[in-house]
Amino acid sequence: FRDPAEPVDETELAIEGALRPASLAEFVGQQKVRGQLQLLLDAARLQQRPADHILLSGPPGLGKTTLAMIVAHESGRPLRLSSGPAIQHAGDLAALLSSLTPGEVLFIDEIHRMARSAEEMLYLAMEDFRIDIMVGKGAGATSIPLDLAPFTLVGATTRSGLLPNPLRDRFGFTGHLEFYEPHELERVIERSAVMLGVTVPATAREEIARRSRGTPRIANRLLRRVRDYAIVHGAGSAATTDDVHAALDLYDVDSIGLDRLDRAVLEALVKRFRGGPVGLSTLAVAVGEEPETIESVVEPYLVRIGFMGRTPRGRIATPPAYAHVGVQPVDSVLG
Ligand code: ATP
Repeated sequence: FRDPAEPVDETELAIEGALRPASLAEFVGQQKVRGQLQLLLDAARLQQRPADHILLSGPPGLGKTTLAMIVAHESGRPLRLSSGPAIQHAGDLAALLSSLTPGEVLFIDEIHRMARSAEEMLYLAMEDFRIDIMVGKGAGATSIPLDLAPFTLVGATTRSGLLPNPLRDRFGFTGHLEFYEPHELERVIERSAVMLGVTVPATAREEIARRSRGTPRIANRLLRRVRDYAIVHGAGSAATTDDVHAALDLYDVDSIGLDRLDRAVLEALVKRFRGGPVGLSTLAVAVGEEPETIESVVEPYLVRIGFMGRTPRGRIATPPAYAHVGVQPVDSVLG
């Protein structure tokens, strides 16, 4: 299994980049976060200073990277992209921070996966635009202070709960991205269809939106598969609702948009663990996946659509989950 919201290859990544909205006005949905960001950017512009540090959290594919790009674009500043897993030593971060130009926007994706030593260096950098570089070892070690150019950090995380409080507190603004409503995804699809040069009637757009797991990246991906299907089996650049059904069935996306991993988790929960409660790691082992993937990718959407509940004793299946899997609910195993 792979993360359903991850781009699959270089070409897909390039297309995804091309479909990114470039301004807050073009960015669909997330009205609250958009308004909050707009105020932050306007205030920084009026005071001619870099915007406060921004933390964006939420499941993959909801637009965190896109918003970081928009922050840089709207404030007319360059953007530097990095990620937590690429910062494994304090030295990696020191090299990155000391090379920033004044006002630059630094985006750190998956910031919760950064090395602990780098995290500590980041506290000071965010607060005072300064870092202390350690030279030498043991008793002769000394720290040399280094001033940095003022910058705006945009951190993104799928797991804001994993960020230490001192780091979280240093962001001037934290925005949580929510899953999108189908009517919002229809607008994303409409815009992308124009850019991809494919005609998709309203009913077909509705169907793709309904089956996109509330996620723009998935909506764009499914749209591309529908376009492929129309080119190969249909009427070329005009896709029909039948093309949508055929393409999404071919790619194992079910009637409500759940993919194979979502369904494997639901089936394990309902059939193997008789509705739970079951612990996250036990559930992850049952479907052969990392607990982190289940927790940050699968679970948020199943909880959002009311198929899964989280209790102190573990995950439980709800009646709609039983119905979707086609199993009659039994009395709780707890009796
Ligand atoms: P990850 O954490 O996995 O990197 P992400 O949250 O950073 O995901 P993005 O890479 O910003 O997600 O967005 C994925 C795709 O979805 C992009 O191609 C982008 O164009 C599209 N997209 C995301 N949000 C919106 C939106 N609000 N309006 C239009 N398109 C969007």
